[in-house]
Amino acid sequence: MTALRRRVLQWIGWFSVLLTIAFLMWTQRGRLDKSHVALAFLLVVLGGSAAEGSALGISLATVAFLVFNWVFLPPYNTLVIADPLDWLVLIAFLITGVVAAKLLERLRREAETARQRADEIDRLATLGAETLNAPRAEDALDAIATVIRQAMGVERCTIYLQSDGAGLQLTGRSPSDGVVDEPSGLLSYTVAHVEVAVERSDGTLALLGHALSHTSSAEAQVALEGLTALGLPLSVRGRIVGALRLSSSRPFGISRDQRRVLGALSYYAALGVERVRLTHTEEEAESLRRADRLKDALLASVSHDLRTPLTAIKGIANEVWRGGDPLRALTIEQEADRLNELVDDLLDFSQLNAGVLRVNVGLNTVDEVVGAALERVEGAHGAGRIDVQIEHDGRILVGTLDLAHTIRALTNLLENAVKYSPAGAPVLLRVYEAGGRLRFEVEDTGAGVSLGDEERIFEPFYRGARNGESIADGVRGTGLGLSIARQLIEAQGGTLTYARRAGGGSRFTIDLPAGSAPSE
Ligand code: ADP
Repeated sequence: MTALRRRVLQWIGWFSVLLTIAFLMWTQRGRLDKSHVALAFLLVVLGGSAAEGSALGISLATVAFLVFNWVFLPPYNTLVIADPLDWLVLIAFLITGVVAAKLLERLRREAETARQRADEIDRLATLGAETLNAPRAEDALDAIATVIRQAMGVERCTIYLQSDGAGLQLTGRSPSDGVVDEPSGLLSYTVAHVEVAVERSDGTLALLGHALSHTSSAEAQVALEGLTALGLPLSVRGRIVGALRLSSSRPFGISRDQRRVLGALSYYAALGVERVRLTHTEEEAESLRRADRLKDALLASVSHDLRTPLTAIKGIANEVWRGGDPLRALTIEQEADRLNELVDDLLDFSQLNAGVLRVNVGLNTVDEVVGAALERVEGAHGAGRIDVQIEHDGRILVGTLDLAHTIRALTNLLENAVKYSPAGAPVLLRVYEAGGRLRFEVEDTGAGVSLGDEERIFEPFYRGARNGESIADGVRGTGLGLSIARQLIEAQGGTLTYARRAGGGSRFTIDLPAGSAPSE
């Protein structure tokens, strides 16, 4: 109503200007030339067109044409024209006025479109910033929902995330209070068919294909009017990540311009949903990491607590032995030792996992390493089975290594060689230097490691498989020894590898940096 009144006032105003100027020029008619009159009228026509559009401009041009003829072209006060050249002046005036009015109108329209585009770009830029900057991904989605709701002129905009397990989940909405739209059949339609779906005021549902695309396809021409809800699939790089729903209690329409804007804005919504999804995945990963840390801490403390009763058990075994039952005392002691080894393994493993292992690398002789390892293995398994060959050219073999860790790893390999080969079968330990590296090779004539298991035996808790049964069946162990040994060696810059032994059995090789022996 006010717009109409403004227009009427504009028209009255411009006609008043025209008539006032005509009157003023009439009072000076004797002194004015025809071109002055034409120019003055033309200015009024241009002013009117610029202010109110071509309709006013053309009307002003027509009235000015008549007044020009009636008042300023002799014979006066008639529409008759004496001089045929005056016709030319009049027609030229009319054409100029009309063309100028049309041109101005076109410019006005182009300026208006440019303004709308600038608004759109502003809106998109704001959205881009919102999507990237909002501290919580969900807040960004609420902001995007608000922009979309305002741009489409609807009452509610809700955005859903499509999760694999739980279907559509509400993740953003505007307004943030009030009724929450449950994901309806409309949205299932949209997501299942990857098409725009609408609900009309008569209660019918329809799929509209890609009605927001820029193509002039038949679908894009379908009127989006009389709607109560509209559902839109949200996709990023061709993958559906969620859906968007617009709704109002009163029927609404989406104009062609709005469709284009909705197409662009919905892409931001899709990016927002993707950000929420990625944040959730990251949070899950973090809670897994926390659980993992907790497990390590638990492992460490449980292993610690196991130690105390073990000491007590060993004490009691000693008493039983003194009391005259050496056989049972030995069993208790052996079991306690086994438990002790298990605790050692668990402790080492948890330390390695927690990344708190200390490595103390220095120059150490092979004799020290081999002597300590043999003592441990032969102490437990009896002497005589391990054949040691240290190959050197008169110099003492030296390595740049952590003494304790290397002894532990080598002991482990020797124990395995004894455990996994027939009783009494020989085990060979060969040490030599080659190309600046020091090698410890442990060979046995047992069954070797099954095909396909060569790397898996280094995984924690893996105990090997053969025809479905564990190769380690009947042989005691935790499946931690090799995993720990490899980590201990790698922590010093070395490698621990397995190879099949020619003629059957296994060969495990520790490879460490050699050192040069101090000159005597
Ligand atoms: P454990 O000996 O406690 O089972 P390890 O980590 O030391 O654990 O070894 C893992 C698995 O590798 C063993 O269960 C066994 O199947 C296989 N393995 C290790 N050493 C040998 C070997 N010398 N010969 C054959 N198999 C072996």
